[in-house]
Amino acid sequence: MAWDFNTEPEFQEKLDWIRSFVKDEVEPLDLAFSGAHLVYDKKHPVHAEVLRPLQEKVKAQDLWACHLDTELGGKGFGQVKLALMNEILGRSAWAPSAFGCQAPDSGNAEILAHYGTPEQKDRYLSPLLEGQICSCYSMTEPQAGSDPQQFRCRAERDGDSWVIQGEKWFSSNLRFAEFAIVMVVTNPEVPIYQGASMLLVPMDTPGIRFIRHTGLGSEAEGSGSHAYVHYDGVRVPAENMLGGEGQAFKIAQTRLGGGRLHHAMRTVGSMQRCFDMLCERVLSRTTQGEQLAKKQMVQEAIADSWIELLQFRLQVLHAAWTVDQVGGHAARAQIAGVKVATPTAYRNAVMRAMHLHGALGLSNEMPFMGMLQASVAMGIADGPTEVHKITVARQALKDYEPSSGLWPSEHLPERSAAARARFAHLLEHTVGNH
Ligand SMILES: Cc1cc2nc3c(=O)[nH]c(=O)nc-3n(C[C@H](O)[C@H](O)[C@H](O)COP(=O)(O)OP(=O)(O)OC[C@H]3O[C@@H](n4cnc5c(N)ncnc54)[C@H](O)[C@@H]3O)c2cc1C
Repeated sequence: MAWDFNTEPEFQEKLDWIRSFVKDEVEPLDLAFSGAHLVYDKKHPVHAEVLRPLQEKVKAQDLWACHLDTELGGKGFGQVKLALMNEILGRSAWAPSAFGCQAPDSGNAEILAHYGTPEQKDRYLSPLLEGQICSCYSMTEPQAGSDPQQFRCRAERDGDSWVIQGEKWFSSNLRFAEFAIVMVVTNPEVPIYQGASMLLVPMDTPGIRFIRHTGLGSEAEGSGSHAYVHYDGVRVPAENMLGGEGQAFKIAQTRLGGGRLHHAMRTVGSMQRCFDMLCERVLSRTTQGEQLAKKQMVQEAIADSWIELLQFRLQVLHAAWTVDQVGGHAARAQIAGVKVATPTAYRNAVMRAMHLHGALGLSNEMPFMGMLQASVAMGIADGPTEVHKITVARQALKDYEPSSGLWPSEHLPERSAAARARFAHLLEHTVGNH
């Protein structure tokens, strides 16, 4: 009997330490340095003065960069432990940086660790793992995101170099990055899935031209961190190719599976935070002579949020466990299923908590509007929900075959006839007794 929801006592101690460390030492950074970009702007003095000492404390606890396997330079925690850890980190925008697992750097570190040459690891992976620099993953183009067949950004071989020409869009944190991993078409004669490659592009390379710094929602024009960028004759040495020529999509899969799951793990933490705020509010506020918590429709909201949080948490933990058992590739239905569930689960949790806070909930004095925006982004970033539903459906259908005859295998007349024939002697007896 192997079903078990217990946490090993030694790891529970680690989780307890993480919880109080994040609350007491990291969350104040969210309040004092609330601009989301500062997390990535490694030149801001808060990194050297405040974050670095916190990172040292995390390293002393042996909890740094836990998302990577031991042979890749990490702690080899596996996804279930990561899920339990990330639930706590999800409460703070700064916490992943404090623990060396900030996206997109964590995913970029993963593919560098898997596919990088010793020189590439030395130059890009080591400082990334140390949290000294930040990086960008530059794949989406203005005319195409979820359909890579429309990607046009080209790299052509010229002697010992690749020369990149084209545009990318929503390249998050490029303005703060030391380097970008850029997906480029290197062979337009074959389907994109065999004709695209990844190039490591240091940001001081001539020809990188920002067209706009696009922001989310109500961010002031020009202050956003999702770059619209033109790679205008950007020349990098041939040895800057990550993996082999034509391997971009194989590499991207390594990166995106874990990343999607980690976003979901952190979303569990954000949903728990919404639930905590909801419960505190309905116990604190009275209307018409009684606590909000006494109203039946409010109790319905509490119950729905509690149930959905539990369901989503179990789905994420199950997907994490499946990855640990069979690997990310074989668990792609579970990962895609989690990716599909994340935006709706998060949005419902935010909406109920926000609504029950009344005007305060919509105000800039509570965190809900930012959380609502984040929940919507979960349904777009790393591919829109529809695309992941297609993956779930395709994987699910692999376990099925068409029915062999005219009628479905569950068609009642045939099944009933077979059952009646099997029990004919008893049926005659039953009929005779009436
Ligand atoms: C916060 C955020 C951060 C991001 N960071 C990065 C980054 O760092 N690097 C990067 O390269 N990209 C990044 N992206 C871009 C992201 O990967 C793309 O937005 C995503 O892949 C969708 O592409 P698109 O925006 O072009 O939408 P489109 O591909 O145009 O899709 C638009 C809509 O069409 C529908 N649709 C699409 N395909 C299908 C289908 N097959 N069936 C049915 N309906 C469909 C969906 O409703 C979808 O939302 C980021 C996006 C966000 C929101």
